[in-house]
Amino acid sequence: MRENLLLLQTKARQDLNNCISLEQLNEFRIKYMGKKGELTNVLRGMAQLSAEERPLIGQMANEIRDDLEKKLAAAVARIKTIEIEQRLAGETIDVTLPGVLPETGRLHPLSLVLSRIEEIFRGMGFTVEEGPEIELDHYNFEALNIPKDHPARDMQDSFYITPEVLLRTHTSPVQARTMEKMKPQVPIKIIVPGKVYRRDDDATHSPMFHQVEGLVVDKNIRFSDLKGTLLSFARQMFGPEQRIRLRPSFFPFTEPSAEVDISCVICGGNGCRTCKQTGWLEILGSGMVHPRVLEMGGYDPEEVSGFAFGMGMERIAMLKYGLDDLRLLFENDVRFLRQF
Ligand SMILES: [Zn+2]
Repeated sequence: MRENLLLLQTKARQDLNNCISLEQLNEFRIKYMGKKGELTNVLRGMAQLSAEERPLIGQMANEIRDDLEKKLAAAVARIKTIEIEQRLAGETIDVTLPGVLPETGRLHPLSLVLSRIEEIFRGMGFTVEEGPEIELDHYNFEALNIPKDHPARDMQDSFYITPEVLLRTHTSPVQARTMEKMKPQVPIKIIVPGKVYRRDDDATHSPMFHQVEGLVVDKNIRFSDLKGTLLSFARQMFGPEQRIRLRPSFFPFTEPSAEVDISCVICGGNGCRTCKQTGWLEILGSGMVHPRVLEMGGYDPEEVSGFAFGMGMERIAMLKYGLDDLRLLFENDVRFLRQF
């Protein structure tokens, strides 16, 4: 029995020395120390030994098992280290290769246009105001001189929530809200950017779009102030050569009212497809604040006067960047958005 154990130990040590991979070490462990392993078998045979021999052989078998386990653990550690070293040796790092840059986002063309519009009007002494997108019928229509039966309501198909609450169809309600808040103080000199909603959806209309409203109320505000402000805006936005043209128009909340055109940004006024050969492009609606609107806002139209204007931000962005389809601005295609 003693000799068998010593033979087994010698054979096991040789086997262990021949192992060159973790796989082989695992096979070795099963072969000798597993449930049906050779060393395990020897230990099972101890039942047949005499009472004197059993403790001696038992101690020897345990020592052999401990010895093999220690050697096995050392072999596992050694082979793991070798494998890591081999892997590192096989890899080369080229520090001259260009790195992978993380994708950076950029501002949406509408955000770019808005920040430019705000910058221009702040430069002329305007402050930026905001108002709610879910609006009362009162502010969206009534306070702007558009009573319930007024035909102007047909011009704007609206999203109603209740008969008295709707998604605002323009940023103009903030005119009424600001006058109510400020009365009787002057001057009021604000622009109001924001989202507005109408039931339109085609290549030139979106059910949601952005407007920028402007309102000035003060003593002695004249039509020439309106024209000068808008000319200055057009030149800062589209270039120093810009001209503007005012055409008589109608809005319930201004009197007189005017549509404002800029000279065509594509052809410079000579006539082309974009301007339909007229040389002019419409960019906004404007006018002198209607006396009724001033009154409803808490101001005396004999004491103060004012002008107002409203422009579509998408329209400005399309002209500024030469876009031919409004929907490009809302499809969020990064191939398009990356160009700005
Ligand atoms: Zn043109």
